[in-house]
Amino acid sequence: MADEQQYDYDVLVIGAGPGGYVAAIRAAQLGLKTACAESRETLGGTCLNVGCIPSKAMLHASELYDHAANGAMAKLGIRTTVELDLDTMHGQRRDAVKQLTGGIEFLFKKNKVTWLKGRAAFTGAHSVDVGGQAVTAKNIVIATGSSVTPLPGVTIDQKVVVDSTGALELPKVPEHMVVIGGGVIGLELGSVWRRLGAKVTCVEFLDQILPGFDGDIRKESNKIFKKQGIEFRLSTKVTGVAVNGDKATLTLEPAAGGEATTIEADCVLVSIGRRPNTDGLALDKAGLSANQRGQIEIDHDFRTAVDGIWAIGDVVPGPMLAHKAEDEGIAVAENIAGQHGIVNHDIIPSVVYTWPEVAGVGLTEEAAKERGEVKVGKFPMVANSRAKTNHEPDGLVKVIADAKTDRVLGVWCIASVAGTMIAQAAQAMEFGATSEDIAYTCHAHPTHSEAVKEAAMAVQGKPIHI
Ligand code: FAD
Ligand code: NAD
Repeated sequence: MADEQQYDYDVLVIGAGPGGYVAAIRAAQLGLKTACAESRETLGGTCLNVGCIPSKAMLHASELYDHAANGAMAKLGIRTTVELDLDTMHGQRRDAVKQLTGGIEFLFKKNKVTWLKGRAAFTGAHSVDVGGQAVTAKNIVIATGSSVTPLPGVTIDQKVVVDSTGALELPKVPEHMVVIGGGVIGLELGSVWRRLGAKVTCVEFLDQILPGFDGDIRKESNKIFKKQGIEFRLSTKVTGVAVNGDKATLTLEPAAGGEATTIEADCVLVSIGRRPNTDGLALDKAGLSANQRGQIEIDHDFRTAVDGIWAIGDVVPGPMLAHKAEDEGIAVAENIAGQHGIVNHDIIPSVVYTWPEVAGVGLTEEAAKERGEVKVGKFPMVANSRAKTNHEPDGLVKVIADAKTDRVLGVWCIASVAGTMIAQAAQAMEFGATSEDIAYTCHAHPTHSEAVKEAAMAVQGKPIHI
């Protein structure tokens, strides 16, 4: 093996998404000579280019449109004549992406991270080919992220049948959008186009939307989205999509089997999950292989089975979330530098940016009960003064605590600002809080967060406002 002096870099990161670019910046901050290989034209990965950022730009704009168009603003005494200018809406989305991806390029320059443009493939455990250039590094971090899971037999043409990338860029509002998969992407992007005027039908294989979320929260959010006009076909599978011109005919069957039916749509969104990007990496040349789910297995410190090769983000087991990838990026760089990088994988918040937002951290009630006896406190947003004042009656907060120790095991919310509210729950849990700790913490009034305090008080059976 080559000695240290012969490596081109101390650290080579493959992939410049939130996992990879953060790892590269932290490694450079720690004094390591660092490069990052990225095959896209811009930095930032899925998240900044075609994921978190553009979807939130469309969610924010369509939410304001919806408030103006559906009479919510008129109720506050603000009368508007509403007209959709979809080109401008797309323009502000592209602008947000351009500014943020350009921002990463600036941070790379500032921190002296070399951007190697091109697709990387291993040629050995410490060597990689990046678009024809041979590069060696003492440490290599695989942060190649994930891509859309295809539905067998269904071709994504990005016109009639789209994935999340196509659904962000539709040139006109569909008349009828069928969303295949009632997960995060289906609900967020389905909400965008419903608000802008499309009829939206969501076909979900399971008997409830949002797998992985707390049972009460799944049921309640389903009710809310239904009330907003999304039609759900639960326990149903799509067995075929036939495209004819600008129309699609979907064949549906009960998940358990049974008689097939068809529905027509002018837009079909395939959002049945994402799969790790390991194809083309030539892992075998490095002595590595992916597991059955295509993921790269790692230990607690993000080390793979091969010395000097590390992996983080969507390509490793765990939730596929940008903030989890970012935290892993910091931790892996610190570990490479000989420090003690840690991510607490038990406390990774998850947020669906619909209206209202749906958020959670820690265990669901179902999972917590499997481990032992629990106490649960709930507080409805309709009884929260700020939500009431803002005409946001839908939702609730639910706190799950260990029955013996009172330690908080999970917090779940549906509220207009649930994504912001969940941060306090994550922090409290990180500090090992009991429900009593949250209940006796002074919360500013009037805020949505008071509902978290009240739900914690409800764990002891003593909320004030219900
Ligand atoms: P990625 O962001 O996927 O980046 C990997 C990068 O590696 C890519 O740029 C890719 O081009 C590059 N690459 C791959 N292979 C190679 C190779 N061989 N050589 C060179 N480069 C390579 N998460 C949230 O937390 N909040 C959200 O609101 C949110 N919204 C989302 C909305 C949508 C529509 C989608 C699709 C995803 C969303 N996510 C969200 C998920 C989030 O985008 C991912 O969890 C996150 O981007 C994962 O980061 P990563 O660094 O692991 O990989
Ligand atoms: P998902 O796993 O969240 O949901 C996919 C859904 O499709 C599931 O409910 C599943 O039961 C259903 N499904 C699977 N096969 C089906 C079939 N044949 N017919 C009908 N339904 C089927 O996946 P997603 O919504 O595609 O999102 C992918 C990833 O991106 C997620 O892991 C998520 O973490 C991430 N993401 C996060 C955010 C966020 O944090 N706000 C936003 C978007 C995406």
